[in-house]
Amino acid sequence: MNLWEYAIDGLKKNTSQPVDSIRLFFSPGRVNVLGEHIDYNGGWVMPCAIDKGIYAAVQLNNESVIRIISQSHTEPCIIPLNKEIRATDFFGWQRYPAGVAFQINRIESVKQGFDAYLVSNLPEGSGLSSSASLEALIGKIILQTSAITTISDRQLAMLCKHAENDFVGVQCGIMDQYAVIFGKKNALLMLDCENIVHEWVPFDSSPYRLLVIDTQKPRTLAGSAYNERKMQCDKALEQLQRVRSIQNLCEAELTDLQHLDDYTLIKRARHVITENKRVLFARNSLLEGKFIHLGELMYQSHASLRNDYEVSCKELDAIVDFTRHHEAGLGARMTGAGFGGCAIALVHEKGLELYKEQLQKFYFYLIGSACLIYEVQPSKGVHEFLPA
Ligand code: ADP
Ligand code: MG
Repeated sequence: MNLWEYAIDGLKKNTSQPVDSIRLFFSPGRVNVLGEHIDYNGGWVMPCAIDKGIYAAVQLNNESVIRIISQSHTEPCIIPLNKEIRATDFFGWQRYPAGVAFQINRIESVKQGFDAYLVSNLPEGSGLSSSASLEALIGKIILQTSAITTISDRQLAMLCKHAENDFVGVQCGIMDQYAVIFGKKNALLMLDCENIVHEWVPFDSSPYRLLVIDTQKPRTLAGSAYNERKMQCDKALEQLQRVRSIQNLCEAELTDLQHLDDYTLIKRARHVITENKRVLFARNSLLEGKFIHLGELMYQSHASLRNDYEVSCKELDAIVDFTRHHEAGLGARMTGAGFGGCAIALVHEKGLELYKEQLQKFYFYLIGSACLIYEVQPSKGVHEFLPA
């Protein structure tokens, strides 16, 4: 059975409704190819939606209730539509769908109930943004089943972000939700996080393949370090604003660093300024078809995240160092907040199998546990699947 069939089967077993008109939806995860720790500094990021995500089979009901079952969680998520949706009535994963329903309901009243069964091949909590994938999925299902046409995709991305900020309590930026909604096949998204405008950059990586390598290391430090880095960037910006009229740190130049009074702040700002420039370089390289430059920019990004932003760890460094020394490797970097989670790599298809085998061995030898390797492709954002 493929994942659609699992989702349909799950729905049939768990709904009391006659399953006469099942609708299918897919929402992808995302990876950020370049531009790390940039979204909250108002610069450019370069993510893409991937071909792993959450599959949903949906059947309308006449009960004014949204009833969602996820294969990976025992508790269902039940959202009554005839009373106020409050965060305190929901726990764990239920807060993501409830938060999205709450946000949409503030703008257009949601009346149409449905039963949904979710099946996912996206690891949860590994940095591939399964949270944004779930939010966008539920958002899209609500808009389509309630025939709400007044909420644009851009607005949906903002509503999903607010759902995660307010209902779940995670102060994420807009990048993840934007990427899983606006993803396009064979393209990277170039997103300006200050003005929330985007363009797509063609990404024909052949003969190289894009790999996601999950360190399987829990990102325990990521939350506190994230907040600390954010505060340091705010402080650097504040000091620079005394001498320069800039709105965000990505507008600063390397020559401005002389105005910072602390070496840690200099390093943090240097990462932000150079990383933002790397995204702009990468876009030009890809538009000119000079794909090979992207690999070098990925290595540079990793070095900057490791040395200046200090958010890497030995597991991520091991993967990047291995790729740099492997003849099939074109580029690699950590992706996501850091301290664990995933790395990405571009690897020549000819040496791919050997690369995977040797990386597994190398990683196990060095770290003492296994890493997981997935091949991914830039893919279409959240959508209703309409069989041809
Ligand atoms: P990431 O977004 O990097 O995967 P997060 O910690 O932000 O990690 O989000 C993971 C959480 O999202 C899970 O703990 C769960 O609550 C929710 N989630 C993701 N995918 C699913 C799914 N298929 N079914 C139910 N909940 C999910
Ligand atoms: Mg998340």
